[in-house]
Amino acid sequence: MDAVMSDALVLFGATGDLAYKKIYPALYGLVRRGQFDIALICVARSGWDVERMRARIRDSLENHGSIDEAAFAKLSGMLRYVDGDYQDAATFGRLCEALGDAQKPVFYLAIPPSMFPPVVESISKLKCAAGGRIVVEKPFGRDLASAQSLNRTLHKYFDEAAIFRIDHYLGKEAVQNLMYFRFSNTFLEPIWNRNYVKSVQITMAENFGVEGRGRFYEEVGAVRDVVQNHLLQVIAILAMEPPVGAGSEPLRDEKAKVFRGIRPLTGHSLVRGQYRGYRNEPGVAADSQVETFAAMQIHLDSWRWEGVPFYIRTGKHLPITATEILVTLRHPPQKVFVDVALEPANYVRFRLGPDQVAIALGANVKMPGTSMAGDRVELHVCKVKGDEMDAYERLIGDAIKGDATLFARQDSVELAWHIVDTILGMETPVYEYEAGSWGPIEANMMIAGVGGWHSPKREA
Ligand code: NDP
Repeated sequence: MDAVMSDALVLFGATGDLAYKKIYPALYGLVRRGQFDIALICVARSGWDVERMRARIRDSLENHGSIDEAAFAKLSGMLRYVDGDYQDAATFGRLCEALGDAQKPVFYLAIPPSMFPPVVESISKLKCAAGGRIVVEKPFGRDLASAQSLNRTLHKYFDEAAIFRIDHYLGKEAVQNLMYFRFSNTFLEPIWNRNYVKSVQITMAENFGVEGRGRFYEEVGAVRDVVQNHLLQVIAILAMEPPVGAGSEPLRDEKAKVFRGIRPLTGHSLVRGQYRGYRNEPGVAADSQVETFAAMQIHLDSWRWEGVPFYIRTGKHLPITATEILVTLRHPPQKVFVDVALEPANYVRFRLGPDQVAIALGANVKMPGTSMAGDRVELHVCKVKGDEMDAYERLIGDAIKGDATLFARQDSVELAWHIVDTILGMETPVYEYEAGSWGPIEANMMIAGVGGWHSPKREA
């Protein structure tokens, strides 16, 4: 990790939606934790001034919760504003003045990807560019070719080490907890392989539809929206080998290896669905073939996981909003007690939110009484309400520190697109399903051999 702290944060797209909803609350959170005390230079083309910018930030924070005036005053004190068109060299002249003696600024591109090339080029001409870091927002392309093109644009001016691709999902407390649990417990490692694990399944469910964003969703679909980034990242954390040493690169190396080991999918291992009524949503084509549900079976070609199926399922308008992983263990080799037929035998269950983060172990115990009959119990390793620290807060703090661990690296992004491009290229049917159901019935067939889908329930 390049441990030099950044000495300024330049925010392009300061008047935009992302800045309002996520970035200002995160910066304010960092100020409250005493972890942000560098210049904040907001850049936009709206003809605003610093007072208007300050009012916008206050409005964002008020919308997010209550304001601690002392913290707000501190954040306001760091604020500078640069107005101008991103295509105009004079804008960057003013930015250079605002940066003063800064040597290692973070340049946060909260702007449409189409604006990246001119903005990155202009940044590269600033006198402090050599020490700069660039933060870019997902989506990192919409297929392999566009992801490679975006990377070429960034690499024309900046090294990979200076590029921080934000996917807020990796900054979530629950996702961090998953990684921590895997690599900080001795008891887990001996069983975390094909000898003991029968199957792994991940469900990422939403109980709502496209919520007026039909036009956007038509360009995306469930596979691009969720599988390419979030679900493949979760698989990587579950399946990766322990990183060799500390720091961001060994960990990112191991994740990339998982993606390299994912066997190309076939049509039999994919089921796509669309909720009934999706085609009536504003902005959606009457004959849309865009999937709002996807389920697939993935095989990893690796020593550790050979023969263990990984299943993933995601969808909109499912019965609940929750993300849950179930790692099912094989049965004991002999049936010592004839009546023990609990399925699965043992499991590890991870609930990744949104309202609850939990890790639980499923075990069998004897029911009180004269017979040797079994009962299922769940031991909670941890159970907490929601995410403690906002993902954007964590990630912006990390970018300022130069810690790239939770940011997507070029090779992983391109490998993930390579996997997803194959899926997107398949002309499989899109099955209709009822809103509020667990998706098309066809998705049940692929997993029947290992006991069916485990559906997350409302947690008490
Ligand atoms: P917005 O459309 O709200 O715009 C962001 C900013 O870009 C605004 O400050 C706007 O400036 C500026 N801008 C827009 N078009 C142009 C243009 N043609 N030339 C110059 N400036 C322009 O976008 P979001 O804030 O929603 O998104 C920003 C980035 O973050 C995008 O890459 C998006 O994909 C990504 N993202 C957004 C999320 C969200 O929740 N919004 C979630 C995850 C990623 P002005 O107002 O002055 O016109």
